[in-house]
Amino acid sequence: MKPLLKTLARALFTAALLTPALVTATSSQASAPAPNACTDFDDYVNGTWKATTELPADRARVGSFDQLARGNDKLLAAALAELAARPGLQSTPALTRLAAYYRSGMDLAAIDKAGLAAVAPLLQRVNAVTREGLPALLAELARHQVAAPLSLFVAPDAKDVRRNVLTATQAGLGLPDRDDYAKTDATTLRIKAAYRQHAAKLLTAADLPADGAALEALLAFESRLADASMTRVQRRDPNASYNPFTVAELQAHAPGLDWKALLAAYSGRAAGVPLILGQPLFAQAVAELARDAPLATWRSYLSVRLLDATAQHLPRALAQSYFNYHSVAQRGLKAPPPRVEQVILQIGGATGGAPMGEALGQLFAAQAFSPLAQQRAFQMIGDIREGMRQRVKASPWMSPATQTLALEKLDAMVAKIGVPERWKTFDGLDIQADDYAGNLLRSLAWVNAERLADLDKPVDRIRWNTSPHIVNAFAGGGNQIIFPAGILQPPFFDASADDASNYGAIGMIIGHEITHHFDDRGRQFDSVGNLRDWWTAADAAAYKARADRTAALYSGYEPLPGERINGRQTLGENLSDLGGMQIAYVGLQIALERQRKAGLATPLIEGRTPEQRFFMSNAVVWRSKQRDEALINQLRTGQHSPGRFRVLGPMSNMASFAQAFGCKAGDAMVAAEPIVVW
Ligand SMILES: [Zn+2]
Repeated sequence: MKPLLKTLARALFTAALLTPALVTATSSQASAPAPNACTDFDDYVNGTWKATTELPADRARVGSFDQLARGNDKLLAAALAELAARPGLQSTPALTRLAAYYRSGMDLAAIDKAGLAAVAPLLQRVNAVTREGLPALLAELARHQVAAPLSLFVAPDAKDVRRNVLTATQAGLGLPDRDDYAKTDATTLRIKAAYRQHAAKLLTAADLPADGAALEALLAFESRLADASMTRVQRRDPNASYNPFTVAELQAHAPGLDWKALLAAYSGRAAGVPLILGQPLFAQAVAELARDAPLATWRSYLSVRLLDATAQHLPRALAQSYFNYHSVAQRGLKAPPPRVEQVILQIGGATGGAPMGEALGQLFAAQAFSPLAQQRAFQMIGDIREGMRQRVKASPWMSPATQTLALEKLDAMVAKIGVPERWKTFDGLDIQADDYAGNLLRSLAWVNAERLADLDKPVDRIRWNTSPHIVNAFAGGGNQIIFPAGILQPPFFDASADDASNYGAIGMIIGHEITHHFDDRGRQFDSVGNLRDWWTAADAAAYKARADRTAALYSGYEPLPGERINGRQTLGENLSDLGGMQIAYVGLQIALERQRKAGLATPLIEGRTPEQRFFMSNAVVWRSKQRDEALINQLRTGQHSPGRFRVLGPMSNMASFAQAFGCKAGDAMVAAEPIVVW
C-alpha cells in the first residue's frame, strides 16, 4: 500500500528527473520548430540536454550510464582514501588488500621508481626464448592471463554448465579488430600508425629493436593471427565456437606446437588437459607460427603483449603510451581522467571482473547498497518476467510445443541482485602497498590458480563475475540475470519515483537482460543454460525471419557519414532492446493494474500519462554524447548500438509508443511494418 503523500513525493521526484525533457517538449520559444515526439523521440526528450551538455576533455562519452558511474567512482574514491588512512576500517582481508592495492596505484613516485622490476622476470624469459621453450613460455604468460596469442581460462562447459572445462579462444591482436589488418581507410590507417608508435615504445622499453623492419615483422605476424581469427559476427554462433579436443586430437589438428607441453605447464598436470577450442583455425595458425616464425619476431610480439597488458601499472612513459594508443587514438580523449578513477578502473576492470573487482564492490556496498532497492527490483523482475510470459503465450508465430519450453526457461531463470550472497576472501593473495605492477601480476596469477583449482569441482553458481559497484547489468551463463547495486540508483531506479519512471528505466534494463536469454545467441541455450537446440525447425525459421529484419533495420542506421551500425554484430543487443521494451511495458501495465485494484490512483504527472513517462524515462537512460572517434570504435568493434538508436529502433516498432503519443502512420517514429519478436 502506498499512501497518497508518497505518491505526491514521487510526482515531485519524477518532475525533477524529467525537467530537461519537459522544457524541450513544452516551452521551446526558439525559432526552430519544437521537437516532435512522433518525428524524433531522442531529440524530443534529449535535445536540450545534448545542446547544453559539454563533453569534458577527459571523457569519450557522457550520458546517464557514465554520470552514474562517475558518481560511484566519487563515492569509492572517498571511501578508498579513508580506508587507506585508517587501518582500523580494514575489517576484512579483502579490504586490507584493497587498501594496499589502492595505495600502490596512487603512489606515482613509487611506480616510476620500481621501473620494470615486476615484469622483468617474464621479460627475461621472453628474451631468452628458444623454439623448444616456447610452449612453456606461452603457458607462463597465460598463467598471468596475458593472452598471447591464445586466451586460456576455466569456465563452465557450454553443453554441461554444471562442470568446469578449460577453454582456449582467439586473442592477442594489437589492433582493435581482426579486419583492421586488411583495411586501408583513413581511420584504420590512423589507428595503425598509433599502434606502431605504441609498439615501438614498448619494444624500446624491452631493449628490443623498434625500427621499421621490426614493426613490419610484428604487424605481419599479427596479420597471420588475424587472418585465422573469426569475425565478431561469426563469434556470435555458439556452436561454431564449441570444439572439444583431447590433447592428442589437438596435436594432430594443429601440429607445429607441443600442445601437451603447453597444457601441462599451464595446468600443472603432466598429461595436459582436454579443452574446448573456440577457433580451431586460429590454433592452427598459432602452431604454424610456433614452427616457422623467427624467434626475434616471437620476442617482439610477446614483449609487446606483456607490456601492453601491464603498461597502465608501469612508469609514466609506458602508461602514457598506453593512453595515447588506447584512449586518444581509439576513443578521442584529450586528457586522462583523474588518477583515482584510473586506479579504480584498473583494480576493478570495466565490468567488475578483474581479480580484485569484488573488493571494490564490498567497499561500495557498505555505503550504497539499499535493501529496499533490492526488494523493489525483485518485484519488478516478477512483473516483467510475467510480461514475457504473456508475450510468449500470445506469440503468433511460436508453436505451443516451443512455447512450453520457452516458459520453462523463463521460469528457471535466476536473478542476482545488488550484492553477492557470499563475498570472496582473496585467501593467499599477496598485495603490497608499494608494488602496483607486482600486485597486478600476482592477482592475475592468483585468480588463474583459483580457476584451475575449479577444474574438478562443480560450477559455483553463487559466484559473481562482476562487482556491486558496476553501473551495468548482465545476462550470465547458466540462465542467470545480474543487476549490481551500482545500477540500482537514479536515474535507473529510485525508490521514491513513480512506477512508470522506474519501469521505463531499470525495468527496461531488466527486460533487456531477460530477453538476452532469447536473443539470436541466447535462445540456443536451454532452461539450465546448456547449449542445446530446443526449437522446432519451423519456430527457428520464424524467429530467424524476424531477427533478419531486425538486422536489416539497424544496418540501415548511419550514425556518422559512411559509418553504419553493423546489424549482425549488434543483433543480440538490438533484439534485447526491442523485446526488453515490450515486456517492460507489459510489466508496467501489471504494476498499474495492481495499483488500481488497491484503490490507488495512477495520476498524470506534469500532464504526462504513466505510459508517456515510461517512454520518456527510457529515453533519458539512453541519452549520450560521444566523441566521433569513440563512436566509430563502438560501431566497428562494439555489440551495442549507440544510445540514440536504442531509443529510435525499439520505440518506432511499438504500437504502444504510437498510442501513448498519438503518432500516426507515416510519422518517422511509426514503422510501416513493425518488427515484433516478443
Ligand atoms: Zn545487452
